[in-house]
Amino acid sequence: MTRPVDAGLAPYAADPAHTRGRRHAEPPPEYRSEYQRDRDRIVHCNAFRRLTYKTQVFVNHEGDLYRTRVTHSLEVAQIARTVARALELNETLTEAICLAHDLGHTPFGHAGQDALNLCMRDYGGFEHNLQSLRVVDELEERYAEFQGLNLTFECREGILKHCSPANAKLLGEVGQRFLRNEQPGLEAQLANLADAIAYNNHDVDDGVRAGLISVAELQSVRLFQRFYSEVMQRYPDTSPRRQLHETIRRMINALVVDLVQTSRAQIVAADVQHIDDVRRQRQPLMNLSESMYALHLELKRFLNRSLYRHAQVSDMTRRARSVVSDLFAALLDDGALLPAEHRDAAARAAATQGMAGRARVVADYVAGMTDRFAFLEHARVTQARSAGA
Ligand code: MG
Repeated sequence: MTRPVDAGLAPYAADPAHTRGRRHAEPPPEYRSEYQRDRDRIVHCNAFRRLTYKTQVFVNHEGDLYRTRVTHSLEVAQIARTVARALELNETLTEAICLAHDLGHTPFGHAGQDALNLCMRDYGGFEHNLQSLRVVDELEERYAEFQGLNLTFECREGILKHCSPANAKLLGEVGQRFLRNEQPGLEAQLANLADAIAYNNHDVDDGVRAGLISVAELQSVRLFQRFYSEVMQRYPDTSPRRQLHETIRRMINALVVDLVQTSRAQIVAADVQHIDDVRRQRQPLMNLSESMYALHLELKRFLNRSLYRHAQVSDMTRRARSVVSDLFAALLDDGALLPAEHRDAAARAAATQGMAGRARVVADYVAGMTDRFAFLEHARVTQARSAGA
């Protein structure tokens, strides 16, 4: 039997033959590398399928064409894989991290996470990125011998993008870099940037499609304007839909090319020979150039102002917030409203950790909900409470 090797890796790439390993030791996979196994476990897990019915800006039932968290995650992975290949990083690990990066998201995107964080303020708070790690480390129940997916250290390190020092202390080895001011591997740094490139660009597409932002407004954004005028010169007579897409693909391309070139130069300048050299750097080596970063930031600020705070989005956001906080309050107050499995987990957690343990189980349950399931649960819980009142 030959063990597959991830081909064409640079010396500073993550090498599955030298992984820092899994928390629970397992025999090596037969026809896959360790990172292929990580990726496959992620794609097969429950939380990944639930991403189909979770959204970040638009709520799932608002239309079939908007990005969901699963299509977002696929776009992030596509962008990152291109860059990984160009820089001879580990493409499989990069893909695994990208596919897992949003597993901990609550229903209703950031509105849901903010609401849940507020609900959890006396019990350690709630942070979606930390929750993604919790999903793969603790919450998935699929294997007889361990909790979670038992992913490699490199994949877990990539999933945990940021972390407070207090939480880092509780996380063991994977939290250490936040205390030592070290960096994760290049694959993890890349996944983070690909995420930002993907959502900035697809939110332009979804925002225009939804009629919440216009091409005229977008022309105040330099990155958009530059490529839109190029497209209009070349294809003045094609449909607005195609003109928009031709613009977006050019923006993504420009960001990706800049990311590859800038990062390659920084990797060469830092003279890193091993992933541990990458980790010891004070700053990330994967970066956009300063000028491209400024353009990227300008687009992000535009979307913040014009799309994420649009009255129509804010209406939905308010509703989403109240669904999440009502649900949390009702389920914490009356454990009988929880499904049996979660009720038992809540009772066990309360016995060892008191109210904070119980609240964490309720938060895990609420965070795992899809947008539509949260609406259904909200209706069920509200009805049960008014019947009992
Ligand atoms: Mg994301």
